[in-house]
Amino acid sequence: MTQTDLLKTDCSKCAALCCLVLAFDKGEDFAFNKNPCEPCRNLSGHSCSIHDTLLEEGFRGCVAYDCLGAGNRVIQEVFGGRSWRQEPMLMRVMMEAFSGMREVHKRIDLLRAAETLPLSERDEQARHGYLERLERHRWSGSELNEFEFGLALEIDVFFHGIKDYLPMSFFDQT
Ligand code: SF4
Repeated sequence: MTQTDLLKTDCSKCAALCCLVLAFDKGEDFAFNKNPCEPCRNLSGHSCSIHDTLLEEGFRGCVAYDCLGAGNRVIQEVFGGRSWRQEPMLMRVMMEAFSGMREVHKRIDLLRAAETLPLSERDEQARHGYLERLERHRWSGSELNEFEFGLALEIDVFFHGIKDYLPMSFFDQT
């Protein structure tokens, strides 16, 4: 996977993690309730059986959702292409890794977007350094579990430090 398309979602290389992991409530965006780590009842293998009629069937939330490539990266990079379908014991660790990778990819998206800001040389070096670390590192499940309490906080502090450069809408993109 090249760095350019790291945030591009490729469902064919995933194991339907969003349709397993995410919870939703019946309402305008979803036609029924689903608990976290419960396979959606519309799943068939790793595919959505109502993919072509999601809007008509009341699943606007599924159409709007994009994992930013976190699902396929987790399945391929952390789990070597395995699936919770064949190995249900993996459900919980895949759920945790997916949550961690989504946080990694959200910050890659923000760090890339910050490239256009008129940062000082020192801040630009820091931005570039964080981006390289997030994009090039080959993540393990345990590292993803720790990400939000370590490097993610460091990056968030970095963004706080450059907040004067940021438009109000900057964080809306993720
Ligand atoms: S309705 Fe389809 S896309 Fe939405 S969670 Fe269920 S299987 Fe996934």
